[in-house]
Amino acid sequence: MKRTEQTLLEQMHISDVEILHRMVLLNLSKEELNILFSHKNIIIEHIDEIVDEFYEKQTEIDEISLLIGDADTLRRLRSAQCKYVIDLFSGNYDSEYVNNRLRIGMVHKRIGVEPKLYLSAVRTLKEVITKILKKLITKSDILEQTLDALDKLIYFDTTLVFDTYIDCLVGEIENAKNKTERYAKSLEEKVAERTLQLKEQAQKDPLTNLYNQRAMQEFLRRDLLASKRRQVKLSLVYFDIDKFKDINDTYGHIKGDEVLKNIGQAMLNNVRDTDISCRYGGDEFCIILPECGVLEAKIICEKIIKEFSNRYPEYSLSIGITETGPDKYLDGDELIKSADKKMYLAKKENGFQIEI
Ligand code: GH3
Ligand code: MG
Repeated sequence: MKRTEQTLLEQMHISDVEILHRMVLLNLSKEELNILFSHKNIIIEHIDEIVDEFYEKQTEIDEISLLIGDADTLRRLRSAQCKYVIDLFSGNYDSEYVNNRLRIGMVHKRIGVEPKLYLSAVRTLKEVITKILKKLITKSDILEQTLDALDKLIYFDTTLVFDTYIDCLVGEIENAKNKTERYAKSLEEKVAERTLQLKEQAQKDPLTNLYNQRAMQEFLRRDLLASKRRQVKLSLVYFDIDKFKDINDTYGHIKGDEVLKNIGQAMLNNVRDTDISCRYGGDEFCIILPECGVLEAKIICEKIIKEFSNRYPEYSLSIGITETGPDKYLDGDELIKSADKKMYLAKKENGFQIEI
């Protein structure tokens, strides 16, 4: 349930039983409360005198004067204070009385009145009321009982004020904690995202956006293990652009880069999501094809050749393909060496060649 749907009494779990309990704790009896009530009229008669003197003293303190701030606020506070003092002698110390005290704690926390200022104000008010009562009550035993009852009631009020004051403080801490947690979470997410980006960057060749040689070795190890476990074939394609150096020499490096990028794109366009396309280095490329034999691999290579030669009919590729498994498996290095060797065999002929 939202805070705004609950009274302060409900929020603070203060029932009638709790109110009585607090009075018992302070040894504040019904008779004493009645004694206070018996002076209600004389208090009403002298209310302006009490409140004037109270604010006279309060506004002498710089911190309090600063907190009050202006004449209008002082007027409002004065009228609230008149009501408070009369309430002390009202004879009604019920849940409404308690709710009003709880509100004082909440408001004081909100406007930034520190406990030391609040307590000094309470003490001043008690002093001013005591002075008036001493002047007006002639019977010393009645005076003593009245002052004692007033003392207890002010303690009772203070416990309530402090309860909401502390509750507001705890709420502020809770909010600050939640804010910090949200911030820490957003930082964590940013770090995780950045780490992922860095990891990907470390695995990729920046020109072609294919996996680099180091990442390829890791994927090859992983895919060979998986193929062994599942007893399926795996093929490795190794290819190299024929006379790539001539492209650089004739048309410049930028043109060379463009050819490399396009071959990378042709590879990505023609393999499955589970296949790993890599730039092995320079103008040499590899593709790891899990669950794929040489014949299927050859078909994929032919698709890449088709796409590549559509764009660059004057250049060709030499391709070597080695398959391994499902009975016996080469390790990663053996597989690369074998496909590389076949690529060199293919290079002996002119034009597109695939050696399997
Ligand atoms: P072959 O037919 O025997 O394969 O000869 P080739 O010219 O293709 O091979 P070679 O190994 O002699 O030359 C490869 C060239 O690739 C040399 C190098 O300058 C160039 N190269 C390597 N990396 C890049 C790159 O990122 N961009 C460009 N433009 N050229 C590169
Ligand atoms: Mg070459």
